[in-house]
Amino acid sequence: MNCSACEARLAAYLDGELSARDAQAIEAHMNSCASCRVLVNDLRAVEIKLQGLRGVEPRPGFDVAVMAAIAALPVPKPARLRLRWFVAYVAAAWAVLITLTVARVIDWQHAFAAVAIELGKVAAAGSTVLGVGLRLHLTTFVGAGIGIEMLVLLVGAFALRRFYPQMRGWFAGAPA
Ligand SMILES: [Zn+2]
Repeated sequence: MNCSACEARLAAYLDGELSARDAQAIEAHMNSCASCRVLVNDLRAVEIKLQGLRGVEPRPGFDVAVMAAIAALPVPKPARLRLRWFVAYVAAAWAVLITLTVARVIDWQHAFAAVAIELGKVAAAGSTVLGVGLRLHLTTFVGAGIGIEMLVLLVGAFALRRFYPQMRGWFAGAPA
């Protein structure tokens, strides 16, 4: 028996769970190996210390006291107050807008005209880009790309759903 095989079975050895033959093999190894002897003595010491620990018990009625303290907490305020503030905010915003319009600070005719001109420019640019793309068959290329991407995402989602419990085991360092 080598050291790693010995270490792997030491806990079972100390708990008396090994067969007589396996236990003898462990003891034979420890007779010839100082480091495993030290390890088993350390494990024994830890086990004795653990046995000496007393469990911590909550005082009687602890759960009842906790539930009573929770019940005594103030009830959260209803959301109506926040809704009222929102309505006030919207009303104030409209009041400011109307005031500015009446005072002719905002000239809506010019503002809409300016926005329409900008939108027109964007539309013309988009139409040009689309025309170039159609001529170079870029839409087919982009369509195929999106299709492949959707497929990869679908396979990934399926794999994650299927294997997630095992993967969680790997990340936690525990056997899956
Ligand atoms: Zn050893």
